[in-house]
Amino acid sequence: MHIEIICIGSELLVGSVNTNSAYISEKLATIGLKVNREITVGDDFPQLENVFSESFNRSNIIITTGGLGPTFDDITRETVSKATGKKLILNKNVLKTISEFFEKKKIKMPKDNEKQSYLLEGAEIIPNGLGTAPGQILEMNSKIIILLPGPPREIKPMFENTVLPYLKKRFEKGLLKIKILHTVGLAESVIDEKIRKIVDIERKLEGSEVSFSILAKHTGVDIKIIVSGTDEMLIDQMIQNLKREFYNVLKDFIFGEDNQTLESAVGQLILKKRKTLAVAESCTGGLISHRLTNVAGSSMYFKEGIVTYSDSSKKRMLGVKDETLNKYGAVSSEVAKEMAEGIKKISGTNFGISTTGIAGPKPSSTGKPVGLVFIGIASDAGTKVQRFQFTGSRVEIKDKIATAALDILRMNLI
Ligand code: ATP
Ligand code: MG
Repeated sequence: MHIEIICIGSELLVGSVNTNSAYISEKLATIGLKVNREITVGDDFPQLENVFSESFNRSNIIITTGGLGPTFDDITRETVSKATGKKLILNKNVLKTISEFFEKKKIKMPKDNEKQSYLLEGAEIIPNGLGTAPGQILEMNSKIIILLPGPPREIKPMFENTVLPYLKKRFEKGLLKIKILHTVGLAESVIDEKIRKIVDIERKLEGSEVSFSILAKHTGVDIKIIVSGTDEMLIDQMIQNLKREFYNVLKDFIFGEDNQTLESAVGQLILKKRKTLAVAESCTGGLISHRLTNVAGSSMYFKEGIVTYSDSSKKRMLGVKDETLNKYGAVSSEVAKEMAEGIKKISGTNFGISTTGIAGPKPSSTGKPVGLVFIGIASDAGTKVQRFQFTGSRVEIKDKIATAALDILRMNLI
């Protein structure tokens, strides 16, 4: 089985991010179909004709996105028609749907939109509830051609409601499941060493395949377990067993699975313990509060977040002492401690978190290095401060500090 995705749109070649191919390949993977190639091409007739013909020759399934609109630069229908020799035929039902789409909006249908009612000879319609251009599925010489429009919000329901069920029915035998484990606090090389003995074992499971991949981001490392096969129960069992093995070696360094984020994991824990939290940030500039409040329901535990960027604000808002600032400087363990205790006290929460550090790119005037940071946590059990030395760009360092702060909180909750 050879599958290719062709994304059509000149804007994709000058910086617009191609989200369609990622979306489609991810969805195909859920029914055991792996994409072999993804190609991006501009709105250019000869180029597209070339790309399409080559793909058509070597593929069993081709999926295109974009270029089904009404304008002169929307050339997908015409190109595919030429490359396959399939005529474009006006479909009255599609024309009716499109004119109704305009009627509902009380707009006169532009003449150009008529061209969207042409289907390749023998093609089936993929209804598009959110736009004018329907998609098309064409079977030809035991190959499948699927044409989808460009806008991601239109593609999603079309893919989920029509394309996926269609492909699933055609290629029912395969099933593929992915489990993602998110870790924080360990370098990729350390993880690699720890999990080596798990991933090196050859797994024998009737008619199925197991593979792993590691994705290192600057804030943590993800481990992907991919199991394909025909028996869903066996696949689930294999994933459960492998998960247990990973948890055994990585323990608390795993903070969550699949769509979980560090902040949502922290949120769950703090909610369960019925505790509350406030944050006083310096170098992270509100990033920790931002991440915490990305979680729906965070108002249950997150009470307050303030950015005390200057010395005077640290004094005024948090009660950090003049002498502490003078003696140790703003980026110091002592100031982080007073900040954490200050925010805990003024907000009346169970936890107060603080950050003070040097995000760069230049070292501080007093010679403290870029990436040096102190993170404080004041709790009902007392106050602790940890010192870190991070590397990276200013934005990366801020991300790493926010991640470390959230992780410190997590460790205090488990
Ligand atoms: P329309 O009727 O809206 O013109 P279309 O099928 O002709 O639909 P395009 O003109 O190619 O689609 O793209 C429409 C919109 O969808 C553009 O805003 C474009 O940036 C976006 N888009 C197209 N392809 C992709 C892609 N691969 N990933 C993300 N966005 C895309
Ligand atoms: Mg268009």
